[in-house]
Amino acid sequence: MSGLEVAGVVLGSLPLVISALEHYTNGIHTAKRYWRYKSELRSLILQIDTERGIFINTLEQLLSGLVRIEHMTEFLSNPGGEVWQDVDVQLKTRLRSAYEVYFGNVSGMARSLKRIREKLALDPGSGKPQFSDPSLFKQEYKRLQFSLRKSEYSEQLSDLRNHNQALTRLTQQSLELEPSRAETKTRSCPNFNALQSYARSLFDTLRSGLRCTCEGHAIKLRLENRSNKAEDDEDLLGSTPFRVIFTYNSAAPATSWTWKEADIRWIVDKPISVPVSSCGPKLTRRVRFDQVQTSSSSTTVTVTQQHISVITKPTPEQIQDLCHAISTLQQPQLNICAGYLLDSLKRKHGIYPLDIPICQDKQEDWSAYTLRQVLTRRAGFGRRLMQHDKFKIAVDLASSILQLYKTPWLNDDWGDDDVYFVHRPGAPLSSVYQHPFIYRKFSSATTNQSLVPPSPVRSIIRNQTLFTLGVLLIELLYGTSIEELQTPHDLACQGTPGAVWCTAERLIDEEIALEAGQLYADAVRRCVRCDFNRKTYSLDDQDFQQAVFDGVVAPLEKTLQHFLGQD
Ligand SMILES: [Zn+2]
Repeated sequence: MSGLEVAGVVLGSLPLVISALEHYTNGIHTAKRYWRYKSELRSLILQIDTERGIFINTLEQLLSGLVRIEHMTEFLSNPGGEVWQDVDVQLKTRLRSAYEVYFGNVSGMARSLKRIREKLALDPGSGKPQFSDPSLFKQEYKRLQFSLRKSEYSEQLSDLRNHNQALTRLTQQSLELEPSRAETKTRSCPNFNALQSYARSLFDTLRSGLRCTCEGHAIKLRLENRSNKAEDDEDLLGSTPFRVIFTYNSAAPATSWTWKEADIRWIVDKPISVPVSSCGPKLTRRVRFDQVQTSSSSTTVTVTQQHISVITKPTPEQIQDLCHAISTLQQPQLNICAGYLLDSLKRKHGIYPLDIPICQDKQEDWSAYTLRQVLTRRAGFGRRLMQHDKFKIAVDLASSILQLYKTPWLNDDWGDDDVYFVHRPGAPLSSVYQHPFIYRKFSSATTNQSLVPPSPVRSIIRNQTLFTLGVLLIELLYGTSIEELQTPHDLACQGTPGAVWCTAERLIDEEIALEAGQLYADAVRRCVRCDFNRKTYSLDDQDFQQAVFDGVVAPLEKTLQHFLGQD
């Protein structure tokens, strides 16, 4: 029986007990000998009715937000059923560890009420008195031997009151605690399916844009937190650039590496409405007002968003040969589209080249290091990961696996070798850790995901992508590889998914909360154990995405904010 079902039993029992007591009080009128019990029974009724009122108030308080207020009475008067099960699941989230204690007290109330029903000699099936005619009171009393003295119920009454008081206190406390818990929970997550689909399409479009025969093309995609929810998918994608660095390893030794950085943004061709008031100086720089159709009767003007990026060139042109286009990218101007690629759905992916900080001619000064190299101190540059870098990278990685799941950018068996940091020519070393990148080669044979079936042991790990994220969060926190954190005991790991798993489990149990705080520790634990209280574990399921967003991305964001003193 679920906790809420036990509450249903209590809710059902209380009125039965009260109406039985009323029935006996009426019966006493017919038997003068027992009149002295009348006031005792009345007092009993009052006390039980009071407990009933308190219990219902508490339950209503507890269910507020889970059951709509206008449905509350109906909900409470019809215990059981599917709706109750759903609400029970939500209650577990609301009460967390207090759930067991809470419904332990409700069970205590149910036991007291059962004892009271027995003492009242109620019918075990219906819970009603075993006679209906009050005038038969005297003889039935002799037959059934029910208790009429208030003192005979004192133990049960006191239990009932104590349990009920405990429930009131627990409810108040868990609701008081809830605002801080729920602050990030109520935020709905961005449309990660739209982002995944866009990332997939972007990869295919870039690959098919490279019609050359060169072997050395690769792209680094910047990983960044995208937590803000846009109004609709087109707004989300239109306003969401993906930052890439085109890298090219040519055979000619003189200019061995050529790197170009650019934003890629979906050019939305649909007309959009812009309130006149917002077309202030900020937009006039970028919008061609000769494209604007004004309407005298309305306060809005219509602009075609495509033109936002166009100032000097009439319209961006379609890029036929991406290899050629990248190598001839000119000195960029802010927000100028160098051209676009068409994807299979004829959507335009505009390329907006970015300036590099200084000395653009020294392309060989670009360098990149994997997270693995940084963690094992083989990166060879004098900048260690600061605490701020670690927390920020953690947020970027967590959000990115939701954006890139099952896209060619992110393999199932991704790891710290796939995550890069880029040092731009002339940029300060402190900028290296600003954002991580994921690296993809664009030779013809790269897109296939490794389709190795999971081994039975590996199935303990319910979601490999999330498990890896958990491990990377641990590595980031300690600034070292998971192997270096292993103890001999972790290596004796027969029957487990391996030493990495054992190390992660041990650190979750013993250290991480003390090292990085409870929120970070919760995020790591959920990733490693796939601890989300959901039926599915796939990151392309919206419900699961929201759970991962709430349980991993949001607490990591809070950890970063807390570190920065912003909360
Ligand atoms: Zn090429």
